[in-house]
Amino acid sequence: MIVDLHVHTNISSRCSSITPEELVARGIGLCLDAACVTEHSTGRGAQVNYEYARERGFLVFRGMEVFTELGDMLVFGWEEDIRYYLFPFADLRREVEARNGVIIPAHPCRGLADARHRQRHGMTEELLESIVAIETHNGAMTRKNNEEAESLREKYSLKGVGGSDAHHVSHIGRCVTIFEEDPSDEEELMKALRGGRYRAAYLEEVRGPNAAG
Ligand SMILES: [Zn+2]
Ligand SMILES: [Zn+2]
Repeated sequence: MIVDLHVHTNISSRCSSITPEELVARGIGLCLDAACVTEHSTGRGAQVNYEYARERGFLVFRGMEVFTELGDMLVFGWEEDIRYYLFPFADLRREVEARNGVIIPAHPCRGLADARHRQRHGMTEELLESIVAIETHNGAMTRKNNEEAESLREKYSLKGVGGSDAHHVSHIGRCVTIFEEDPSDEEELMKALRGGRYRAAYLEEVRGPNAAG
């Protein structure tokens, strides 16, 4: 099952122009099996997209992306409107663990070349204890940046996921996660993410260069 694990839409992400209509049409057009809507600091956009897509036969998983002092985190199993610019990682971990949810650091090597950001991207023990995978394939990052994330994944023997981080319809599906299982809702998705039977990929490497055009 091929899933774009990281998409922003214009419902709750001002930085994205993707409409629910575009997400569904593009998802179906690319033959994706599902997409996760992960808006910044709220689960509302994911819910709107989930309902819209369900009526049209496309599967949307509901997640969110939370900015913490340890970087951006993709979160499944916990939804809340976060009113702070930065949500403390310890608080996020407590909330997510209380609901048996899942945390995955997004683009863990973004800003690594920038000394000011370097520290916050270190894989601290606290972080390693509380995540199931890291995002090694992010469609908005450079190949080099994703290769660094892949090295990080190897170094710590973690699992890797892929998502486009799309903010424009043409970017949907650039990076994906290929699951051996076929999760049909968030509970099953989280179970699959914990189970570890998946890998990250660039869609064009799975399908050939013209498929994603
Ligand atoms: Zn992010
Ligand atoms: Zn994002």
